[in-house]
Amino acid sequence: MPLVNPQKMLEAARDGGYCVGAFNIVDFLSIEAVVAAAEATRAPVMLQTSSGVIKKFGVRKLVAMARLAADHSPVPVALHLDHGTDVKVLSEAIKAGYSSVMIDASEHPFEKNVAITKSVVEEAHAAGVSVEGEVGRVVGVEDDIVVHQDDAIYTTPEEALEFQRRTGVDFLAAAIGTAHGFYKVEPKLNIDTLRKIRAQATFPLVVHGGTGLPFEVIQELVRAGATKMNLSTQIKKTYIDGLYDYIAAKRTEYDIIKVLAHAKSELVTMISGYIEVLGGAGKAE
Ligand SMILES: [Zn+2]
Repeated sequence: MPLVNPQKMLEAARDGGYCVGAFNIVDFLSIEAVVAAAEATRAPVMLQTSSGVIKKFGVRKLVAMARLAADHSPVPVALHLDHGTDVKVLSEAIKAGYSSVMIDASEHPFEKNVAITKSVVEEAHAAGVSVEGEVGRVVGVEDDIVVHQDDAIYTTPEEALEFQRRTGVDFLAAAIGTAHGFYKVEPKLNIDTLRKIRAQATFPLVVHGGTGLPFEVIQELVRAGATKMNLSTQIKKTYIDGLYDYIAAKRTEYDIIKVLAHAKSELVTMISGYIEVLGGAGKAE
């Protein structure tokens, strides 16, 4: 089916107590792997692109690749721009056919974050595109965005609700102690904050930094109200390990299709596992 605006899938997930996996793709193979995993588990799914991937391909090529995979698939697939900081790039993505974008103006003070986010919401909604905002600061490295542990700002329920009310974002990333990249120390998660926001919020909540969290912690986050969970670093790790393992085992075999097929198969298995843990399996119907 055509790319879908994820608003309905996220609202259904929030009401149904499960979570939609949002996977950061890096090329067409990883797009195919995410969609194949969603089909295997009959789950709705979100493809996400980071600023680095957008720099490499450009938004038009990414939309074309996502459409190619989604159009022939029976499960709903959304294309989302992850951590947009450049309003110009967001505008290009909206015009090119993204079904959802994230404006990350969380580096700015609250009022400026509200103003920038609100302007993106106006443009996106006029085009039928949904918007994710961020309040508080998620730590770690996300392409060009580097946030140190000392600069982490945990979202409070009050500001989450005020931010959504004033900006009109469709879903909101709350900084509750998860981080981008690999965890070097065990994260201090503020799951109770998520629970408190969920109790009062009418909008879906997003948790970034899914890589490295134990499955039981992920399930606790889902029970607490996480409705969209982002997974990026694990995609890169499984992809690279898949290539490496195959090549290391068969150093003199030069069948590139088999090498890539092995990496893709590893990705499909890993992504399907996350979809199951998030509770999204069987929810495409
Ligand atoms: Zn993120």
